[in-house]
Amino acid sequence: MDYAFDRTQHDRSAHLRKADAWRGPDVRVMVIGGEHVATDGGAGIRWIGIDEAPEGEWIFLGTKDDVRHAAVMVDRVPAELEPVSLRVLGPTIAADEASLGVHAVGIARWHQNHRFCASCGQPTDIAEAGHVRICPACGTHHFPRTDPAVIMLITDGDDRALLGRQPSWPEGRFSTLAGFVEPGESLDDAVRREVMEEVGIEVGEVTYAASQPWPFPSSLMLGFFGQAETSDITVDQDEIAEARWFTRDEVTEMTASSDLLLPPNVSISRWLLQTWHGGTIHGRWA
Ligand SMILES: [Zn+2]
Repeated sequence: MDYAFDRTQHDRSAHLRKADAWRGPDVRVMVIGGEHVATDGGAGIRWIGIDEAPEGEWIFLGTKDDVRHAAVMVDRVPAELEPVSLRVLGPTIAADEASLGVHAVGIARWHQNHRFCASCGQPTDIAEAGHVRICPACGTHHFPRTDPAVIMLITDGDDRALLGRQPSWPEGRFSTLAGFVEPGESLDDAVRREVMEEVGIEVGEVTYAASQPWPFPSSLMLGFFGQAETSDITVDQDEIAEARWFTRDEVTEMTASSDLLLPPNVSISRWLLQTWHGGTIHGRWA
């Protein structure tokens, strides 16, 4: 994979969600507690038979290679099932397994935090094989949330890249800028607003590049390239402590000497940087 969770590999088979139509003796089951999944020795997702599954609420994930896959949610995955956070496991396993894992964790995290009706406060019931919660008191249907965030590589007329350092990061650690989309805002306007707020640069043309689900707990990272129309940087000192323009040669040389540390390969941020750079970028964050 080019970065973690970059492809969906399973057929979600939504037509099987109603009335437990997905259930059957051959379903493969993942045990999940929050963002932790049962593993085989920490090396991959542990799949068990539906008859061996512990008590819990169910999510039908879909079909892969004609086999149905589901997840059962427990409060905490027992130690003997070798739980590992999908945040750690996901980038190391095959893309088709990661695809099922990221679907399950996104839904499981939502269930954890949405047990009660946001309209009337009553406990809600799980429905549609885990993809809806319904309030028995007022009838409201609640759907899993995805919170869109934009992440953008901004370049100037000399094709230099704009990177920033957050206040909590050590000297030399930089990344692309990013921020959450606000209600009533288009994605390209969110890119322009965040860049203006954080570093005072005006952005003109914005081009969508790729996306990365990041359900820890519920983000969808939407990656963009953007063209700067100004070049004088004014950092906000709140979200960004330092920002500057980097040429390709500076990125090559400074990552080789570890004077510049960029995000790891699992991130869409690194992928945006790599796509812009086109050559070899060296080190990364530990
Ligand atoms: Zn209600």
